[in-house]
Amino acid sequence: MKRRGGGTLTAADFGKTVRLKAWVHRRRDLGGLMFLDLRDRSGFVQAVVHPEAVPEIVEALAPVRAEWILEVVGKVVERESPNPDLPTGALEVEVTEAQILSTSEPLPLDVTGRVDANEEHRLRYRYLELRRPELQKNFLLRHEVTRTILNHLHDQEFLELETPILTRSTPEGARDYLVPSRVHPGNFYALPQSPQIFKQLLMVSGFERYVQIARCFRDEDLRADRQPEFTQVDIELSFTDPDEVAELTEGLLEKVFALVGIEVPCPIPRMTYAEAMARYGSDRPDLRYGLEIVDLSQRLGSSGFRAFQSTVADGGVVRAFAIPGATGAAQASRKQLDIWADAARKRGAAGVLVLRRRDGELQFQVKGALTEDELEGAARDLGLEEGGIALIVAAAPAVAANALGALRQQAAEQYDLIPEEAHAFVWVRDFPLVEWDESARRWTSLHHPFTAPDPRDLEKLDAEPGSVRSLAYDIVYNGMELGGGSIRIHRTELQQRVFSLLGIDEKEAQARFGFLLEALKYGAPPHGGIALGLDRLIMVLAGSPSIRDVIAFPKTTSATCLMTQCPSPVDADQLTELGLAELSRE
Ligand code: ASP
Repeated sequence: MKRRGGGTLTAADFGKTVRLKAWVHRRRDLGGLMFLDLRDRSGFVQAVVHPEAVPEIVEALAPVRAEWILEVVGKVVERESPNPDLPTGALEVEVTEAQILSTSEPLPLDVTGRVDANEEHRLRYRYLELRRPELQKNFLLRHEVTRTILNHLHDQEFLELETPILTRSTPEGARDYLVPSRVHPGNFYALPQSPQIFKQLLMVSGFERYVQIARCFRDEDLRADRQPEFTQVDIELSFTDPDEVAELTEGLLEKVFALVGIEVPCPIPRMTYAEAMARYGSDRPDLRYGLEIVDLSQRLGSSGFRAFQSTVADGGVVRAFAIPGATGAAQASRKQLDIWADAARKRGAAGVLVLRRRDGELQFQVKGALTEDELEGAARDLGLEEGGIALIVAAAPAVAANALGALRQQAAEQYDLIPEEAHAFVWVRDFPLVEWDESARRWTSLHHPFTAPDPRDLEKLDAEPGSVRSLAYDIVYNGMELGGGSIRIHRTELQQRVFSLLGIDEKEAQARFGFLLEALKYGAPPHGGIALGLDRLIMVLAGSPSIRDVIAFPKTTSATCLMTQCPSPVDADQLTELGLAELSRE
């Protein structure tokens, strides 16, 4: 008799004899009867052992405790007192044969989840925590999502191809994890930050459509939702354009979000980077709520108020957004204003000024600085309502955008303006190709150095690199970047020009990327692609607050694994062998 999953039993099985192999989730002894809640991957089912029918089994199972594993054979019968909370709550299995397959010592972690434990302890016993049904659900979902994505792409003739893990560093903007070479002392492999160059080379090889569920490694200072290693759905295709990549991605997202009953509105709206920054102060705008940023530079730049005047005269902007009247935000306290001002200062602005409409009157923070007309005009532009408040920032455009973007998000959270169950998707396109890094005093790629400049802006590449747009795009959901990609450079000369713009001279370019520059000379097709962050996607779909809930063996925010205790010191011998012996003397 084949084994059944206990959670799959239904009324159709009444009267049947079944074999189960499962963990004892809970054991109860009631009036001589032994009840066992059995758990396996498929779910729960109750088994009951009758002492008068099978006294020898009662005896054999006497020592059984939680998390022991049993094999039982029994008859599926209707339950006298059904449990409506359980899918199998209307039935139970009357045990006729039983044996103990595995025992368990008392558990360091309560698998039922009823007793809470701190995260450190849970990560130390991660293999036990993963037994919790809520977590199991996340990983079943993860499997479904990956399968759905791969099926969808296989149907469209994408090939699953693997790229190396021991490789040369790819510049995606983060630090590399390095692996010392034993055979070539003093030389190192880098773990890939992404398969970027290899997937491009696969296009040069003529595979035309590539997908990989790819592990990527970035040695960054970790934030709450970052992991040093993470998984991408990595996609590349030849003879393509941003619209085709968008359509392909939308098809994927549609199927994947459908798994959790969320409808993706296709085609997903598109927005330029410039518009996203101006109206939402972010390149990943959260469109679940309004609080749109309005430019008041024209209206207030010529006002009598010096701060506004000089900012605009210096090429800066005066921008603001209004918090709706219904929030009563016009009553914001002095302390609240300080909090907003601090948030703006952290992003390089001088502070925040507020305009309130309360008691039927417009009140600007700096009394008398603006005329009645100017105030009325600004309030009109902003849609400032009675009881509302507008937060105004005067600064360089990028600083104002950043500050207002952060304030906008804070205000939305603080005043509860984010509708639950809202799903706002948007493509952000037309990113600048490069941005000026003041501390390094050079141009750096916004996306990565292989991103193609927009042909419309190509002639500005040398004279005005900062105003060149690229063929890069990001897909954003509820203010989160789900993925991003670009059309790539497929000509050696242009790639070389972009390298030199980024301060990578010919010699360095040859040393680091010679193989790519060479490959582009031999019939490289136009190509482009995208990578979706799989962990974050699953987190969103599972409705989990933490990325650690969807990674089987995650690392802590300080990049350690509490279970295996890594990173860890290694033997002096190993270091000697790797030519790293100096380190072992410490
Ligand atoms: N390699 C890029 C990344 O990891 C994605 C892409 O351009 O396809 O962000």
